[in-house]
Amino acid sequence: MNESAVSRRNVLRQVGTGVGVTLAGSALAACSADAAPKTQATAKSVAHDSTSLRPAGDPLTLLKEGNKRFVSGTMQHPNQDAARMKAVAAGQDPAAVVFCCVDSRISPVIVFDRGLGDLFEIRVAAQDYDSLVEGSVEYGPFAENTPLIVVMGHQRCGAVTATVNALENNKMPTANIDKIIAATKPAYEAAKAANPKADLTALIDATIRQQTKLTVAALNADPILKPKVANKSLTIAGAYFSLDTGKVSWT
Ligand SMILES: [Zn+2]
Repeated sequence: MNESAVSRRNVLRQVGTGVGVTLAGSALAACSADAAPKTQATAKSVAHDSTSLRPAGDPLTLLKEGNKRFVSGTMQHPNQDAARMKAVAAGQDPAAVVFCCVDSRISPVIVFDRGLGDLFEIRVAAQDYDSLVEGSVEYGPFAENTPLIVVMGHQRCGAVTATVNALENNKMPTANIDKIIAATKPAYEAAKAANPKADLTALIDATIRQQTKLTVAALNADPILKPKVANKSLTIAGAYFSLDTGKVSWT
């Protein structure tokens, strides 16, 4: 873990103690600087009620229903107007964290038919979970009590395809692509072990699914998130987005 990741993690831990440590000076300060003048301790202790900025209803159900509308072409585009913009200008209380790939075809707000202030989005190629994104994934559940994290892989992921091609042909590319490949390699190895005779296309898809599975396991084991999962205040779900149909299936 590098220095900045350690710093972010320490900030989150300090916030969690409720001792009034501010986020000033951290990367997270930029996200919270314009927030309503509530303390982090207050934010965590207040139960959600009808005045909450969080979309009403079970978060996972909200996403499932939103994706159904997206697939069927009956999108409602909730929370995308000026009134919502004004409502969340002073604070936020998203329903979920969606951790997914940078791919341009899977925008979470669109495929789940949500709007402003509804989702934290963390996007990294092949949703590789490392120390650099760790603090971002932890931020929502810890600072805002966000009750759901969705890790979403997707069909024909380019980053995973690059990984499988490189490792199958024993040809590592240069530049920063090799970092993505190194981060995705455990998923490739697990997929290969489970499907030793799979052809390239099947192996790529199995690696994409393994990548989600391993990331969900890593998040469940995260020391900051684990207690929340244990007391059921946080759910971590795996998902797979089909580029062909737009459908999100849940794992
Ligand atoms: Zn991708």
